[in-house]
Order: sequence, then structure tokens, then C-alpha cells
Amino acid sequence: MPLPDRFLDELIARTDIVDLVGESVHLTKKGSSYWGCCPFHSEKTPSFHVVPDRQIYKCFGCGKGGGVISFVMELENLPFRDAVALLAKRAGMAMPEMGGPSAGMRERREKILTMNKKAAQAFYRWLNAPEGAEGLSYLRGRGLSKRTLTSFGLGFAPDRWDALITEMTAQGYDKRDLLDAGLAVSNKDGRIYDRFRNRVMFPIIDVRGDVIGFGGRVMDDSTPKYLNSPDTPVYNKSRNLFALNIAKKSKAGRVILTEGYMDTIALHQAGFDSAVASLGTSLTEEHAQLLSRYFKDAVISYDGDGAGVAAAQRAIPLLEKAGLKVKVLRMQGAKDPDELIKKSGPEAYRRLLDQSENQVDYRLEQIAKQFDLGDDAQKVTFLQQAAQLLSALPSAVEREIYGGHAAQRAGVTPETMKLEVDRALRHRLRREQKRQERRDLAPVSQLQPKVRGLRYENIRSARAEEGLIRLLILDPGLAGSMGDIRGEEFSSPLLGKAFDRLHSRGERGLSTTLDTLAGEFTSEEMNHLAQVAAQPESTANSGQSIRDYISIIRSEALLRSGQVQGDDLLLAAQKQYQQKKAYLEEKP
Ligand SMILES: [Zn+2]
Repeated sequence: MPLPDRFLDELIARTDIVDLVGESVHLTKKGSSYWGCCPFHSEKTPSFHVVPDRQIYKCFGCGKGGGVISFVMELENLPFRDAVALLAKRAGMAMPEMGGPSAGMRERREKILTMNKKAAQAFYRWLNAPEGAEGLSYLRGRGLSKRTLTSFGLGFAPDRWDALITEMTAQGYDKRDLLDAGLAVSNKDGRIYDRFRNRVMFPIIDVRGDVIGFGGRVMDDSTPKYLNSPDTPVYNKSRNLFALNIAKKSKAGRVILTEGYMDTIALHQAGFDSAVASLGTSLTEEHAQLLSRYFKDAVISYDGDGAGVAAAQRAIPLLEKAGLKVKVLRMQGAKDPDELIKKSGPEAYRRLLDQSENQVDYRLEQIAKQFDLGDDAQKVTFLQQAAQLLSALPSAVEREIYGGHAAQRAGVTPETMKLEVDRALRHRLRREQKRQERRDLAPVSQLQPKVRGLRYENIRSARAEEGLIRLLILDPGLAGSMGDIRGEEFSSPLLGKAFDRLHSRGERGLSTTLDTLAGEFTSEEMNHLAQVAAQPESTANSGQSIRDYISIIRSEALLRSGQVQGDDLLLAAQKQYQQKKAYLEEKP
């Protein structure tokens, strides 16, 4: 059962988009709308647009858009229900009691979270019981204090097939629940057994403080060394970082990225409380976005080996794209942070941290390593590659400073280097200009949804369909003047579905803001609908507009169905020609 319409209406009415967005984005008023720097992608000039009279936001940079509920879903990474609950709390409204399938999803999430919490408690208890002796001595042997064990809630999974299953069954959970939560696995015969056996356990806690999954480590050299929870309705490895729940409260101002649990925990214990780790995956764009909500600076502190260097190279652009200033710590005298702190103490790590290189120097170093700079031919190639890298830096000052560093390495004058960088810069600008020209020359493709799956098959009809949707958003009262047109007659299934929802709300006297759709459409779809809603439209002569739009939609539908006869044939041929032309124009 969906949320009661009146409740959603009240919630949306009580939540002003300018106020809400203004809490996390600095907005400047221009005319009747507001502009700010987008919270979803990194930018220095504002392309994030908030339109109060339509209660929508739309970013012209990254394409994100929607209403108040979509904004919270996107910003807090929450499902629809939870975003509504958060806004309800903010507006001082009580969430209605729910039943039915979508409430079922919410219940399922809550059930898994409760199970995870109970499992974490059991693992913790076993670590401190006789059967966990081996686990405890392993963790203590790795130098973890009693206090660290407690603050990270570390635990132990006994060397049995059904320790946790027995525990959870006694608490009323069944086989289905255990598989659902990723705590058990089933074999071919359908029998289930504990996923984690004979491992020390690291609970993964999200920024809200919920246990969303586990990592388990073996205590010897057997494989896999680490076993992580699978993705479940509450856990997604590309979106969660180990220890971020603690690191987000750090006063350090810079996040330290490590490659694993043990490095992160060792750093926290040594007083570096802003360390985090990605789990069983390399850093993703989503991780970087998540980090950018809490930090402005990041230090990559990966292992010193080839794999660590490669992983750092991949992480740099992701973090930069999310707006973080990136430095790279070069591991020296040990293979990883854990080992370094054990061997040389926290101060040694602090020194490396303070010396961590700006990512540009780091990347110059990585390029330089590939060449023998004593060889003239190789030196030239190094300078060209370095110039490529430097030409991408946004400011002239940076290009000059790092150009100087590169020149020094290769033993050429800074002036020579500058000539090389300027040349690479001119090439880059020319390429970008060409790309922009191509974009400008293809106006029809700009009207298309960004996501391929949503592409319009009939642009002319889609334009008219968009018009009807805009009119409904501007004035729910217009639903009554739209006759019997239905979404199934639309050429775009997405627009048809949106129209039906809004139209039916309008007819029932409910609000028709874009946000009323947030629960039923994906975020890509909402982004596109916000784009639709942001286009100009006037209700001044709405009767005529509605008639025109409907006539276009219907004549195009007729063409598609091939039910055109007699005199209409000429008209049909003409339309087909127009469509073909539009299609050809749209090709890049
Ligand atoms: Zn954006």
C-alpha cells in the first residue's frame, strides 16, 4: 500500500524546496529562481538550479533533478520511504502506520538490520568466550587493544557449520531470513550453513550507526583471506566504507583511505581517527561522493606494492571528480600502514602523512618511473607525457609550479617545459571546442533523455506529451480539461506513466508536484522528468495548448499504428518524412 495521498500532499506542502536545499547548498537568487553549486557533482560555477514555483531542482552539469523527496533520497542515499520519514520528522509530522508490499520492503530492511545487530552481538560474545580464544589471541597478537576490540565491536565466528544458525533460530528467525541477510549460504541440496566460520569478524557499520554487513578474516594463510557479506537490501559494497561511521566525526579534516580493515583499525588505534577502507572492492565513484559529504581533503594511504600504486592511480580521478583535494602517502620502510606503525610507531606514520605528495607530483613520479631520463629520446617522451598531464590542470599557477617540478626532473629549463605544456594545452582546448561544436550542432539529441533506455522514439509526440505533463505540474486543476487522453496513447512509456499518475492526482484534487512521483520512478527517470518540468511553459492560454498537444499525440499515435487511410495518406507521408528528417538530424 502506498503512503496515503493526503499525507504526502501535506508533507510536500510543508517542505519548501528553497529552504530544504538551502540547508546544504548556498543558493543565490536570480530573478524568480535560485542558483548554487551542485551537491551531487564537483563544480566551481553554479549550474544547480532551484525553481520555487515548480518546487523542483535541476542540475545542468550532471543532470540530476527532482523535488524535495528526490533531493533527500539522492543526498542521503536513502530509499523513498526513508526519505519521506526523514522529511516528515523535519516537518513535525508522524509517519502513518503502513502495511502491504512496499512497507514489506521497509520491514525486510529493518528485519535484516536487527538480525545483523544480533549476529554482531553473538560474534562479540564468542570472541570473549572460551571458543573464541584463538580469535582473541590472533587479534591481540596483531596489537589490537581491548578498547579497540570493543570500539569496533570485533567478534569471532566459531569453527562450526551452524553456530550462528542455531543462535538466530533460537531467536525466532528462519532459513529464509538467514539467507536474506547473507548470514547463511545454502548448498545444492538446499541445506544451509553459516557463511562465516572460524574467522575473526568485523562488523560494517553505516553512517547512521546500523550494522549493515560483516567482513571475516581467516587467522592463518588459508583463502579467501577476507570474506565479506554479499550485497543485501541493506548492504552495497560500492556505497559503504568501513569505519566511516567513526571517521565522519573526526576533527582531522582529511580522510585517510586505506586498503583494508586491519590498516584502518591500526590507524584509529594510533590516533588517526579519520581512516576508512573500501571493502572487497576498489574505490568507486559512489564512495568518492560519499566521502565528499564529510571531507574536503583525502590522503590515499595504500600499500607500497604495485597493486597499491595502481589502485591509487585509479582512485585519484574519482576523488578529484567528487571535489576532494587529493594527496598520496608514499609508504616507506614497511609494506602497509599497520606494519609501519608496529615497526616504527605512530610518529613515523605522521611524518609520512605530513609529507604526502600532492597527487600531481605523485603522478609525475609515476610517469618518470617509466623512463630512463638519462636517455635523450626517453627524456623527450617523458616531457611530452608530463605536459599532457599538466595541461589538464585548471590554473596557470599550478601549471607553472608543477611544470617547474617536471623540468627539474628532466634537467631542462622551466621555459622549455612551459612551451611544451602550452602546446598540449592548445591541443586540449581545440579538442574540447570541437566537441562542444558537435554538441551545439545536434540540437535534437539534446532534447533526448540522457539515459539510453528512456530515449524517445517519436520526438514530436514526446514534445507534446512533455507539454501536458508540465501543464499538470503547474496547475493540477487543468486535469479536468484534458478530456479522455491517457498515458497509453503516449509514445514514451515513461511520460505516459508520469502523465497518468499526475492526471489522476489532479482529478482527485491532490497536488501534482513532481515529487509525488518520487516513490514510483527511478532516480534516472526523476532526473529526466525534472528536466521536462524545468522547460518553459505557460498556463496563460492553457485550453488551446492542451488541444494542440492532444491533437499531436493522437495523430502521431495513428501514424505509428498504421491506421491511416484515404486523404490522410498524404499527411502521413509528410509526417513520416518529418520524423525521418528529425531522426537523421538527431544522429551525431
Ligand atoms: Zn550536478
